[in-house]
Amino acid sequence: EAKRKGVSKIKCFTSNLQTQLERHLYLEKGLRHALEHDQFELVLQPQWRLEDQGLTGFEALLRWHAGADGMISPFEFIPVAEKTGLIVPVGEWVVSKVCEYLREWKQHGVSDCRIALNVSPLQLKSGKFVEALESMAVAHGVALDQIEVEVTEESLLDGVEEHGRVSNELVRLRELGVKIAIDDFGTGYSSLRYLRQFPADIVKIDKSFVSEGSVALKESEICTAIVTMARSLGMEVIAEGIETTEQLSSLREIGCSLGQGYLVSMPLSFEEASDCVLQGRTDSKKQ
Ligand code: C2E
Ligand code: MG
Ligand code: MG
Ligand code: MG
Repeated sequence: EAKRKGVSKIKCFTSNLQTQLERHLYLEKGLRHALEHDQFELVLQPQWRLEDQGLTGFEALLRWHAGADGMISPFEFIPVAEKTGLIVPVGEWVVSKVCEYLREWKQHGVSDCRIALNVSPLQLKSGKFVEALESMAVAHGVALDQIEVEVTEESLLDGVEEHGRVSNELVRLRELGVKIAIDDFGTGYSSLRYLRQFPADIVKIDKSFVSEGSVALKESEICTAIVTMARSLGMEVIAEGIETTEQLSSLREIGCSLGQGYLVSMPLSFEEASDCVLQGRTDSKKQ
């Protein structure tokens, strides 16, 4: 009896593996197809001052419209892109889109809006990312200080050697004027000393702390600690995933100055984002 159960467990385990492997291969093939057939879209989520909800910039988030399969979440396809190395061409597509967007706004007279893009450590380790970004920005006539690069705290903790390589690339980006943000901060295990060595301008408080912020004291204490630490290092702080006015006001109370989240806006299409940006321009001209 026990033996039979064991066998069926193994069968179940292997069929799970089989399914995972099939899904992986399916997505890998799909990603190649997506690159060739223009199935990606880069949406933009507004970032704003907590004080008056004034727009400061956007985070670019990748969307995959996978034909009959509908939308596939980046939580599912980014890991596949990373494992297969496809993140490099996908990431280049993202950079070129960001440059196109910024060029378009510049042509309409707006050149002070920032766009942050997410970068995998693998892209940085490829050694070609910095040049690619620089040459695309130059080709589009875009100022490099309008571009921000987000790397997750977790990815910075990859091991000493790896960390050295990633860190070098970030230093080079920073020398070009690109801003560096540490994403999902608080979910990794970096120490204050570690953070001090790190070439970063902005810390993004992970949404898991924000969502509990007004309810659980512990979470809000973590947010307070992050804000205090970032300030003492001269870094900006942005909270992600703000959904309620309660969260907004408790973040303001602890001295966080910037935010992002459904409370103010979902990620927008380029056309919608442009309306916000160009609207802001005409408003400020009226004053
Ligand atoms: P992330 O960089 O931490 O992005 C924030 C995620 O939170 C986004 O999910 C965003 O849509 C979502 N979000 C924004 N506001 C709220 C809110 O108020 N409440 C909640 N619950 N969620 C909110 P998304 O777009 O599904 O992206 C998931 C992750 O995939 C990103 O996390 C990022 O790590 C990765 N990703 C997305 N685009 C790219 C990309 O172009 N390149 C790379 N390497 N990774 C990407
Ligand atoms: Mg991000
Ligand atoms: Mg994040
Ligand atoms: Mg995240």
